[in-house]
Amino acid sequence: MMINGKTKITGVFGYPVEHTLSPIIHNTAFEYLGLNYVYLPFLIKPEDIKPALSGIKTLGICGVNLTIPHKETCIPYLDSIDDDAGIIGAVNTVKLEKDKLRGFNTDAEGFILSLKNETSFKKPKGKTVFILGAGGSARAVVYALAKEKCGRIIVANRSIDRAEKLVQEINKKFPGCKMESVPLGEKSVEGYLQESHLLVNTTSVGLKHGDGLLINTNFLHKDLLFYDLIYSPFGTKLLIEAKKRKLEAIDGLGMLIYQAILAFEIWTGKKPPVKIIQHAVKNFIKQKK
Ligand code: NDP
Repeated sequence: MMINGKTKITGVFGYPVEHTLSPIIHNTAFEYLGLNYVYLPFLIKPEDIKPALSGIKTLGICGVNLTIPHKETCIPYLDSIDDDAGIIGAVNTVKLEKDKLRGFNTDAEGFILSLKNETSFKKPKGKTVFILGAGGSARAVVYALAKEKCGRIIVANRSIDRAEKLVQEINKKFPGCKMESVPLGEKSVEGYLQESHLLVNTTSVGLKHGDGLLINTNFLHKDLLFYDLIYSPFGTKLLIEAKKRKLEAIDGLGMLIYQAILAFEIWTGKKPPVKIIQHAVKNFIKQKK
């Protein structure tokens, strides 16, 4: 990669940011397409998000991704956000357009692209889905599945208020989808699981070694596809349990790649090489194992 006076800068703001795979994804695509861009990690503390965003304008940075903990707190400092990001309430991609900052959410569509391209779950319409978690990523996933006309979405969360708020807000936009919230640990969770076609883990549980299980895995069944948003190289306990039971189960690496591909298109207007990126990321992970 040759950096020169015309190189355009993109990157990611996060805290922490050291673990990010996004530079591999974007720099592989820039290099493959011969685009004079670079993608860099920026460690931005939560309290510094306002000056960091304003720095995009000062420095003429082309655009950035936002990750934990900036996806929601950035919104007041952007000049505009697109409709999807507005309803989801989170922004993961920012573009500098004519000296104005515009926010987008590519997590929602990235999740759906991964689901449709990488699993047998091709037609979400009318299906019943069980979501673990009600944080930022859950909002994107619920929004995406409701937009795809899922028939019923059940959101289970440790803090029930957060699940109720999510359901209320997103249901307003998609009244045709039956949405319910349930506290994690309730007996009823088991009944819901038996009726579901798709289980999505959007919590951070499973990320750390020694994390427990949020559900009784005896209620996983052969007609249930499991999608874990976590993409730890070794797989979470829940992912391992689902695979042991011969369920179709997938981690969040595909979503990570597809959300990045959509951000790449927003910044450059070009289609990145999906297969080349998948290969580069898998090689990188293999070397780290
Ligand atoms: P948030 O902090 O917004 O939400 C975290 C969620 O996890 C909440 O529902 C929270 O429940 C729950 N949770 C945390 N600890 C526990 C616990 N001990 N017991 C039960 N529930 C718990 O995070 P995000 O939604 O942004 O991210 C969640 C995960 O998704 C992360 O691991 C992240 O890496 C992954 N992710 C993957 C993406 C991909 O592209 N594959 C994209 C975005 C995220 P409560 O509300 O009760 O606190």
